[in-house]
Amino acid sequence: MNSGHYISPFHDIPLKVDSTENLFNMVVEVPRWTNAKMEIATKEPLNPIKQDIKDGKLRYVANIFPHKGYIWNYGALPQTWEDPHRKDKSTDCCGDNDPIDVCEIGSKVLSCGEVIPVKILGILALIDQGETDWKIIAINVNDPEASKFHDIDDVKKYKPGYLEATLNWFRFYKVPEGKPENQFAFNGEFKNKAFALDVIKSTHECWKALLMKKCDGGAIKCTNVHICDSPFHCTQEEARSIVELVRGKYLNYLSIMKILKEKTQIHMFGN
Ligand SMILES: [Mg+2]
Repeated sequence: MNSGHYISPFHDIPLKVDSTENLFNMVVEVPRWTNAKMEIATKEPLNPIKQDIKDGKLRYVANIFPHKGYIWNYGALPQTWEDPHRKDKSTDCCGDNDPIDVCEIGSKVLSCGEVIPVKILGILALIDQGETDWKIIAINVNDPEASKFHDIDDVKKYKPGYLEATLNWFRFYKVPEGKPENQFAFNGEFKNKAFALDVIKSTHECWKALLMKKCDGGAIKCTNVHICDSPFHCTQEEARSIVELVRGKYLNYLSIMKILKEKTQIHMFGN
């Protein structure tokens, strides 16, 4: 990938790092121990990572006692999509319309926007208000501890309590906003690596159908610069003008705010 070029983190970063069986790219959205709900904006062109807004307010997750913020580095696998029109065969619920979520359990605190290679260890089937919302458990391959982790049982062995804390975190994290507790398929049991790899494969197929316009993507923006046979493919120049248009609107907004602030001060101080 060339530096200084614009891409979509949803569509243009390859799912696989190389041909190694269990090696995937993860886009980090939320660093561990922070609360701002940063996410790939699937409905904006080129899908920038932005803080979610709800009812006109920036969204933060509550601290779920005794934790501070998210308890893993949280993000998504690029080139995957949980299709909201397709019933998942194991949960009997449709997808949540997002790329598949990842909880990275390594020892480093990562940064928003980092792309890191991860090993998949297992998966949890969260059911959020009737939608399937898979949560992958993975570890950064470059973590000092990564060589000890091969499957979900290694998480139980080397990080005792972490999976139980994860289950509780997801069960309760929306309760402080007045929402009901989340539910889980398989009675909240974490499935193993092989199961997780199957889910990734099928969500990758759904993403391919989305990018090839073979299914209804609704408001999802599929603009991309690397999937040459996709009807949503655009040139690097077009991608640049998309970003510059947004930046222009933002700069305009800043200058209007500056004028308003100056006028308010004149009004307040009477000169
Ligand atoms: Mg999700």
